[in-house]
This record gives sequence, C-alpha cells and structure tokens, in this order.
Amino acid sequence: MADQLIDSFGRVHRDLRISVTDRCNFRCTYCMPAEGLDWTPREQLLTFEEITRIARIMVERYGVNGIRLTGGEPTVRANLPELVRMLSQLGTDLALTTNGVALPLLAGELRSAGLKRVNLSCDSLRPERFAELTRRDDLTRVLQGVDAALAAGFDPVKVNCVVMRGVNDDEVGDFVDFGRRKGIEVRFIEFMPLDADGMWSNDLVVPVDEILALVQAASPVTPIQRTSAPATRYRFDDGSGTVGIVSSVSDSFCATCDRVRLTADGQFRNCLFAVDETDLRALLRSGASDDEIAVALEQSLASKWAGHQINRVHFVRPHRSMSQIGG
Ligand code: SAM
Ligand code: SF4
Repeated sequence: MADQLIDSFGRVHRDLRISVTDRCNFRCTYCMPAEGLDWTPREQLLTFEEITRIARIMVERYGVNGIRLTGGEPTVRANLPELVRMLSQLGTDLALTTNGVALPLLAGELRSAGLKRVNLSCDSLRPERFAELTRRDDLTRVLQGVDAALAAGFDPVKVNCVVMRGVNDDEVGDFVDFGRRKGIEVRFIEFMPLDADGMWSNDLVVPVDEILALVQAASPVTPIQRTSAPATRYRFDDGSGTVGIVSSVSDSFCATCDRVRLTADGQFRNCLFAVDETDLRALLRSGASDDEIAVALEQSLASKWAGHQINRVHFVRPHRSMSQIGG
C-alpha cells in the first residue's frame, strides 16, 4: 500500500476538508436556494467516531497534516467542540470555516478544545446588502464573531468574501480597509458554479486580474510566493498585512491541489467539482477494516482528473451544491 495519497499526476494530498453537516442557518444566494435544501437525516450523517476514524487513517497512513471543518454551517452541528477535541488528538493543523454567527458564543470553547484557525465568510459590510445576500439580517453578529475569534486567540483569522459582478464588487476597497484595520487577511473568492439555484454565469465572475486591480487601487500590494494553497497572497506595501485572491475559475489552482473532501453523509470526494464519490459510510457501517478503507481512498485518488473544466463545453456541474460539499 502507498504511504501518500498520490494521484496519477503526482499530486500528493495532505489537506482534508470535512463537512460536519449540510444544514445551515443562512441561505446565501450564491450557495443555497431561498427555500433551503432537504437536510440529510441524522442517522445518515457520520458520527464523530466515524469522522475521527477516517481522519486518523489519513493522518497515520498518508501523512495528512491539515484538517478543516466546514458545512453547511459547522457550528449548527451539536457538540462541535467535542469533535474538535477528538480530532485535535491527531496533531494536525485544525481549522474551521464558518459564517461566524455562532462565534460570539462558541469561539472560546472551540479554542480550548484545540481548534487552531478560523475563516469567517462575509460578502458585504453593508447591513442591507448583507441581509439580501445571506437572507438573514445578522451582519452585526458576524462582525462580533470576527472580534470573538480574535479575542479567543485564533491566529490567523481570515475572512472569505465571494466577489460577484454588480452585486458586491464595489466593496473590495472597503474589505481591504476592514482587513487592515482588524489585522486579518481578507480572501476574495471568484464566484464558482456550485450554487444550488443554477444562477451562476460567467458574467457574474469578477476575474482575479480585476479583483487585484481593485485591491491595488485601495492599497498597493506585492505578491508573496505561491504555495499549494489556492489563494494567491499579497503583502500590502506599507506593511499593514496581507490579502488573498482565490482564482478558482479564471486561473484554476488544480495543478497544485492537495485537497480531498469528506461530506457529512460520508462520501469521499477527490475534487471540489467531482461528479463521482466513494461511499465510505457504507464501508464503515459494513465493518470494513482500516486496510479496506485505505484501499478505497487510494482507488479514488488514482481516478482523480487533471482539473475542472469550467468554461469548457463538456463541464458537468456536480450534483451537490457548495453547501453540501463544504467549500
Ligand atoms: N457555512 C460556512 C461558511 O459560509 O463559511 C462553511 C461552508 S461554505 C459552503 C464554505 C465557503 O464556500 C464559504 O466561504 C462560502 O463563501 C463559499 N462559497 C459558497 N458558495 C460559493 C460559490 N458558489 N462560489 C464560491 N464560493 C462559495
Ligand atoms: Fe450557509 Fe455557508 Fe452556504 Fe452561506 S455559504 S448558505 S453560510 S453554507
């Protein structure tokens, strides 16, 4: 058996993203329909023990060194700090992506449980627009969530902002100022065709070059050398911090991708845009050994494609939306 999760293009995968629920207390227009989605029944969700077992196999056998918890909204899963405690025993980097609304209550407990880093999502700093975009009037609480994450000692705290043409692209400069003021890294993300309503179109994507020009206009930046992380990062020339741009559509990061994903219902995905999944829940619940689970992981990686085909005629949208995959 292999000692790395390596695909046929030689890419080694060391970053595991775990969706702990497909439920969410927001309905962001670029992610979920207004009426929500049918939530996965509880018995179909992986238990904390099942999640931890899969993560342990990946860490111990394949050197996975980063775990990120996501959703849906991960903080709506009951007892999330307990899962954090269990996963923190594996000794990897451990991060959370959240809409932030529960952080005023949970940040301290998550930190004590062993969580290391937090990314919050926020796409507008204007209350009315925020309410339209998320279908929930909670900007104040999300901003309190940013402060709570900083106060709890998470380092770094990052803010993800999906930029959409004609929707919030006039706020790039405001987000740059916000990040510099708070001492956090804002990461601008190109809108991807993973919304549940099929509203995505290329016209709504603000490409990386345009986002960068808007950032430069707000405050000059210089690029930092790129790593396997999907964001290209820049340093503000006046020394006031960093900013990132995730150019997933116009200049995809597939060549250096090192991520694999586990959905809340136990499906293993070798790509954000994968159309095929491996049913680890069925394996777990049929009494499979660690070796058998490892074989399934390796087989999935062996069939990974070179990269997504957005903007090509043969692009096929995955049957799951971002809220069901986890970002
Ligand atoms: N609920 C959490 C949150 O909002 O941070 C975690 C799950 S959410 C699906 C993870 C990330 O995906 C968020 O930063 C969100 O902004 C981003 N996202 C959702 N739909 C997207 C889309 N269609 N294109 C680009 N990013 C998207
Ligand atoms: Fe929920 Fe996050 Fe999707 Fe917004 S982006 S609907 S908060 S899962």
